[in-house]
Amino acid sequence: MKLFMATLATETNTFSPLPTGRAAFTGGRDWYRHDASRQPATIANIPLIAWRRLGEADGHTVVESICTFAQPAGTTLRQVYEELRDMILADLAAAMPVDVVLLFMHGAMVAHGYDDCEGDTLERVRRIVGAAATIGVELDLHCHLTEQMRVSSDAIVLYKEYPHVDIGDRAPELYRICLDAAQGKVRPVMAYHDCRMIATYRPTQDPVRGFVDRMKALEGHDGILSVSFGHGFPWADVADVGSKILVVADRDTEAAGALARRLGEELWRMRDAATAILDSIDDALDGAASGGGNGPLVLADASDNAGGGAPSDSTAILRRVLEREMKDIAIGCFWDPQAVQFCVEAGQGATFMLRVGGKCGAASGDPVDLMVTVRAIALNHSQGGLSGGRADYGPSVWVSGGDVDLVLTSQRQQVFSPDAFTGLGLTLHDKAVVVVKSSQHFQAGFAPVARAIRYVSGPGALDFDYAALPYMKRTRAFWPRVADPFYE
Ligand SMILES: [Zn+2]
Repeated sequence: MKLFMATLATETNTFSPLPTGRAAFTGGRDWYRHDASRQPATIANIPLIAWRRLGEADGHTVVESICTFAQPAGTTLRQVYEELRDMILADLAAAMPVDVVLLFMHGAMVAHGYDDCEGDTLERVRRIVGAAATIGVELDLHCHLTEQMRVSSDAIVLYKEYPHVDIGDRAPELYRICLDAAQGKVRPVMAYHDCRMIATYRPTQDPVRGFVDRMKALEGHDGILSVSFGHGFPWADVADVGSKILVVADRDTEAAGALARRLGEELWRMRDAATAILDSIDDALDGAASGGGNGPLVLADASDNAGGGAPSDSTAILRRVLEREMKDIAIGCFWDPQAVQFCVEAGQGATFMLRVGGKCGAASGDPVDLMVTVRAIALNHSQGGLSGGRADYGPSVWVSGGDVDLVLTSQRQQVFSPDAFTGLGLTLHDKAVVVVKSSQHFQAGFAPVARAIRYVSGPGALDFDYAALPYMKRTRAFWPRVADPFYE
């Protein structure tokens, strides 16, 4: 049999001021033309590596197209999406006849003119390969599950964990379902349940932890091939924004729908405990003075998370730290290439007035002018990435201003790992508070060094007041905007 595979992914925050252009897809480490599966693992190619390994071990021919995963930001330019999509379609047409298509996408990619890039791509793939071929797609759990995705593919599998530590675990599951389908052993059918909820969930803690474990235990029995919980990505003005349960079953669409509904109702009943509540900036900073234990209080600046498409140069927390005259504070990582350039020009040890952050738009707040000393410069800074690889920060600096240490970078990237700070020589164990611009992916790396972790919602590109988000395209009622969205 012949397998065809590709990655085309980004997560689009339609409220972000940052355009997503060609360089976001083709300018970095995560851009490959036909050989991604033979390269070291990054977030973009983990599934492709698994699919090639499995496919070749089973004696199949594996054909590979592009692989690219752009840093989340605002809406992708139309011509950029069309160019990348058409590269995949041209490679697929050239590879025909193909028995199985396996795609790694995000599920929340929006381009100008395309609210559902994944559904559009899948529909065009189906037109090329025909009804007899099997199409599978692995998506991020922060996806919009659309009807076009469902009817255009045979199997959709989402990550189950957040932090997304299971990208590589889900890929072989999708492979198995699709190969079994192509060989006539199963006939996957899919159903959704729309939970009519918009929220953020953390599977690292109960009750979501238990819910995910129960989902996993249902797989492989009674014809249930796969169960996914689509958390949704709240910061997108698209019709399908929101949480959904997805079930893939063997032949029995009714069974898939019944299980999706049952799980959705379970989630609805535990909605208050299952959805993440964030602190205000001042409530979180108050925590610096209280509580025992070793190590810093780690505060997640979730509203300015680059991984959710935010600029990562918001000054909201920095401003409050300075106004409150707090000591032993570290904050990172500000995306501020201009400030980095000034510091590199001035050199290590230089002291001068630096304008920090606040440069990208209203969500960034006003810049902060601060007398700083350049403590360290790294022209090729990076941190441990989500998948074990490295995540690039480019030229970066550590500056101290009074009692606050800041890391400024040239590439926009959320904080995953403590070496985002310590890689520049900055120590964390002696800090009272470490602020990380991230929503949740920092958790695995920072939990071992933090005495406590708190999540902060401030002004920024990721507003956690879901009821207030200015959706124009979601027409169906949702919680928490209404108390019972099922009452019509
Ligand atoms: Zn995600």
